[in-house]
Amino acid sequence: METGRRMKAAVVKETSPGERRVALVPDAVAKLGPAGIDVLVESGAGDGAWLSDSAYADAGASIASAAEIYRTADVILTVTRPQPGAVGELRAGQAVIGMLAPLADPEFAAALAARGVTVISLDGLPRTLSRAQPMDALTSQSNVAGYKAVLVAAGEFGRFFPLLITAAGTARPAKVLVLGTGVAGLQAIGTARRLGAVVSGYDIRPTSKDEVTSLGATFLELTAVGSAAGEGGYARELTADERLAQQEELTGHIARQDVVITTAQVPGRKPPLLVTEDAVKAMAPGSVIVDMAASALGGNVAGSVPGQTAVTGNGVTIVGAENLAATVPTAASAAYSRNVSAMLLHLTSGGALAIDTSDDIQAGVVIAHDGKVVHEGVAALLQPVEGDSGVDGTAD
Ligand code: NAD
Repeated sequence: METGRRMKAAVVKETSPGERRVALVPDAVAKLGPAGIDVLVESGAGDGAWLSDSAYADAGASIASAAEIYRTADVILTVTRPQPGAVGELRAGQAVIGMLAPLADPEFAAALAARGVTVISLDGLPRTLSRAQPMDALTSQSNVAGYKAVLVAAGEFGRFFPLLITAAGTARPAKVLVLGTGVAGLQAIGTARRLGAVVSGYDIRPTSKDEVTSLGATFLELTAVGSAAGEGGYARELTADERLAQQEELTGHIARQDVVITTAQVPGRKPPLLVTEDAVKAMAPGSVIVDMAASALGGNVAGSVPGQTAVTGNGVTIVGAENLAATVPTAASAAYSRNVSAMLLHLTSGGALAIDTSDDIQAGVVIAHDGKVVHEGVAALLQPVEGDSGVDGTAD
């Protein structure tokens, strides 16, 4: 509908430590114009991804200060959650769109709702809807992270990944095992294969077997645990007995690997422990483990700490990966920019946001609107809880 009305969407500079991504790249600016969306970019917002203010200005964006953005923008586009200090800058009628992890920090969403700010979080997207796929930032960022995890592992590893036959001798290829073969795991398998490693993959969802083998890797089948396919293509949490059986059987396989990359997650739960202390002890000196599920609540690997790399007494390097997508900032931003632009266009009609939670996509991503937290899952977390729900709230 042509109303002549135009929306101001603004890109702010990310403020989380180590965050080098930016919500929109210059290419996106021209694509939003015809939908009635003008773009403001905070000066320096693209610096971390090698995208200069002049590249944005050439694409038609206006370069602005943070103060001007918070005063005039209708919609603020971010990659991750703005710092708590930004809450006071936002005002009623404004909207924030980003990967805001409202399940991990429902209070943030509540604080914005109380100010009358509309909160849209891409990590709530119903990912199995085919029309939602262009907006799937979890997938695009997991792809980047899965790729980088392999490069991190190769960087820590003291030998080659490929088979190399040279006058100075022959190097056997590295053996790489990827535990958890969702989006990040499959990208890790593809990347490790391209580097020439001998790769195997394991997942508790049997349907991932074909995906693993189609990438030229071997699928590891455990005899002790069956399928744990859950809802929406995700895994369910294992029972205590299943968990133990899985850990024990995996230990024998892990001991034979040079590199293990773990990505296993169960939505809303603490990541499952797949590589126990015994498994780490069984690995040879010089082996490397990259735990992409490392979190404050624990990860897939005993002893992994997010953001830290440590070498165990038996010479195994354990990397607690943290925000790997931010370390490939230009590619990650380009992909995220397409996701966030698609979301913005989906939500915009006649130069303004048209919030309608009867739409499947909006029902997942609209967290707060009209002064209220409207997302059921987030609202439930804001209620006083009886007992321990086991929810860790990790949404990204
Ligand atoms: P995720 O990040 O939640 O988890 C990563 C992987 O860990 C998953 O494959 C999961 O099965 C696995 N896992 C969990 N517990 C495990 C355990 N105890 N042992 C071994 N593996 C375990 O998953 P994700 O990468 O976001 O994707 C999950 C699923 O969603 C996949 O089937 C993916 O193809 C699907 N997906 C579909 C779409 C779509 O339809 N468009 C989009 C995105 C993802």
